[in-house]
Amino acid sequence: MSKKQHQAVVTDTVDVDIAVVGAGLVGLPLALALNAQGWVVALIDAAAEPVGACESASASSFVSDTALNDFESQALKQRCTALNSGTQQWLVAQGLWQSVAGDACPIKKVNVSHKGYFGATRLSADELSIEALGYVVNNAAYVQQLNAVCANTTVKRFYNTRVNGVSHLSDAVQLSVEGAPNIRAKLLIAADGITSVVRDSTGIATSLVDYEQAAVLGMIKLDSPHEGVAHERFTPSGPLALLPRPGLFMNFVDCIDPHEQTDIEAMSDAAYLQRLQTRFGYRLGRFSQLGPRFVTPLLRIESNAQTATRTVLLGNAMRLLHPVGGQGYNLAIRDVDALVKRLSTELAKDPGDEELLTAFAAQRQRDQKSIVRLTDLLAKGFRGRASIPGHLRSGALLGLDAIAPLRKRFAAKTMGITDL
Ligand SMILES: Cc1cc2nc3c(=O)[nH]c(=O)nc-3n(C[C@H](O)[C@H](O)[C@H](O)COP(=O)(O)OP(=O)(O)OC[C@H]3O[C@@H](n4cnc5c(N)ncnc54)[C@H](O)[C@@H]3O)c2cc1C
Repeated sequence: MSKKQHQAVVTDTVDVDIAVVGAGLVGLPLALALNAQGWVVALIDAAAEPVGACESASASSFVSDTALNDFESQALKQRCTALNSGTQQWLVAQGLWQSVAGDACPIKKVNVSHKGYFGATRLSADELSIEALGYVVNNAAYVQQLNAVCANTTVKRFYNTRVNGVSHLSDAVQLSVEGAPNIRAKLLIAADGITSVVRDSTGIATSLVDYEQAAVLGMIKLDSPHEGVAHERFTPSGPLALLPRPGLFMNFVDCIDPHEQTDIEAMSDAAYLQRLQTRFGYRLGRFSQLGPRFVTPLLRIESNAQTATRTVLLGNAMRLLHPVGGQGYNLAIRDVDALVKRLSTELAKDPGDEELLTAFAAQRQRDQKSIVRLTDLLAKGFRGRASIPGHLRSGALLGLDAIAPLRKRFAAKTMGITDL
């Protein structure tokens, strides 16, 4: 192709019904669900297409010692997300579950405890007569698998394509992009993460809550099986969560006081692993190996509105939550579900219709507010001097454990299990 012809291609404009910016955990399944309804969808991401060797693999697919070591080192590098039962059911309904299920580790039980006090709340899939309370997936594998599905649909995918700006036409929005033709859409969906360019283009402001906590994220290997039990342990410096992964691996989110951050970053792996073991105790046996770890501040960043002219914000572009209780992605998928359903109604001739978008945002507010309240309570309520007194918290956990209906309501809220 001559340089002139090439220029002609990149200055062309692609017309679609809906443009989804960001092909991450939220953008990919959203684009697939909209495409399945018959909308013409463009999916745009600044990063390279997620293809190639999966970070995740099942232990049984490796036989040689070298391969086993590869598996261990890959397994120890994973970033994970717990999908609740509601999200899993949504993926089933979209015909996407079978594509991601191979890597998903079922959560059979959840054990919530409070360091230094008696009382633990146990939720169990058996008690609720369901197969699993949720599933833990490796983020990279999940995105790769959904992208592979997307590659076989009519979704127009643009990777290595950064959106730089948005302009408004009388009946559409136009994206200025780097590395591809401009894209014109009736509806623009921001799934472009915390630093959303799309959100900035709307002028929607954000508000920030600093939890004055940081989190150490990583993977460990155990000496003995975890039996599919997820643990959330409340400690004076914040919650410590351990999520089961295939084999002997567990993903952890270890909340710390920010003033400990420098010391923790300087610690040797052996010293940090020992610290983690001491904080958690020995109910899972000995922690034998630690993967790469990194530390991130814990903030809540919320957009002050979910919609603007022909634009909807979803996922991290809308709201970053504290990771306690694993609610952020699950809430985002409930937003996705509500939007996709609204767009499937007869009214949705113009997907960017203002009334439709306003009704969507109003419908979602109650659930969003209650999840923000719940994560705030879990993040702040079990820590520090300002928190609920220890014996009451312990009582709350014991009470919750003793009273089955309350526990079931807690499961319904956090696990997205609706038919209890
Ligand atoms: C430590 C931690 C643990 C968590 N655990 C859980 C959990 O167990 N359960 C749960 O429900 N939630 C959890 N969450 C929340 C979950 O991670 C988020 O809900 C999820 O990552 C949101 O995905 P997203 O697609 O909105 O954003 P991202 O995953 O950030 O994707 C944004 C995408 O947009 C692209 N992009 C950015 N800018 C541009 C641009 N200008 N042009 C084009 N593309 C662009 C990026 O390349 C990226 O692919 C956790 C969060 C944290 C921090």
